[in-house]
Amino acid sequence: MTSLILTVAVLAIIALVGTPIIRRMVGAGPLVCTRCDGTGDVNENWPDPSEPTGWHRVTGVCPKCKGKGRVRAR
Ligand SMILES: [Zn+2]
Repeated sequence: MTSLILTVAVLAIIALVGTPIIRRMVGAGPLVCTRCDGTGDVNENWPDPSEPTGWHRVTGVCPKCKGKGRVRAR
């Protein structure tokens, strides 16, 4: 039974790690936006002393890809 769990775990890790790599290789042009993970929407909320309010808050359209979900490779 232990080996079955191990096999499933390894497959899950391969799927988790491999999928973004394969996606990046296939879509060689524009890359999936790392800030919103391709959704085009962000929901960011964390303390940031450099912000006037003391909080970094961004919700809605991703400022990095402007809602497209993909960014151009440089
Ligand atoms: Zn984005």
